[in-house]
Amino acid sequence: METRLPSRFNAAALGRTTTLCTLELPVSHFKRLAALLLDGSGEVRASMQFDVSQDGVPTASGSLQGEVRLTCQRCLTPMDHLISTAFSFGFVASETAADELPDYLDPVLMDEAGDVLAVEMFEDELILQLPLSTLHAEDENCVPQGETGEASQAPEPGGKTYQPFSALGEMLKNDDG
Ligand SMILES: [Zn+2]
Repeated sequence: METRLPSRFNAAALGRTTTLCTLELPVSHFKRLAALLLDGSGEVRASMQFDVSQDGVPTASGSLQGEVRLTCQRCLTPMDHLISTAFSFGFVASETAADELPDYLDPVLMDEAGDVLAVEMFEDELILQLPLSTLHAEDENCVPQGETGEASQAPEPGGKTYQPFSALGEMLKNDDG
């Protein structure tokens, strides 16, 4: 039997019941994540099992999926990105307790009442799943913005030499007298 996880929940109580929970949240609820995206469209879904570790720490393990929309850095058009990852969290009340968690558990801080916000629990994990370089795949119709088509050479990454602060550096160097 599955229970729908509320946006705010008591981690310790859920751990004692070893409940299987599901969660669905719009991407727009993850403010820091959405700020890195083209827009807040899409949805995040998670399925997780609550439990208590051998050391008595409430835990939640499961999988996290989502679709987010980024901007391709080559053609500047929208690009959909699928997120799919697994997690094992340990719920702790302090940074000290977080340091004592076994390696397989990522710490999630509870408030004084033992409550956790679902958005805060998953946001860092979602941000970590964004690609380092946002570019369409080779076989997609992806043409650099402003290019006419006659020069079809691939753009060199990091090939730009424009350094807006080099002049400032010179000024600072000469300003020591
Ligand atoms: Zn592209």
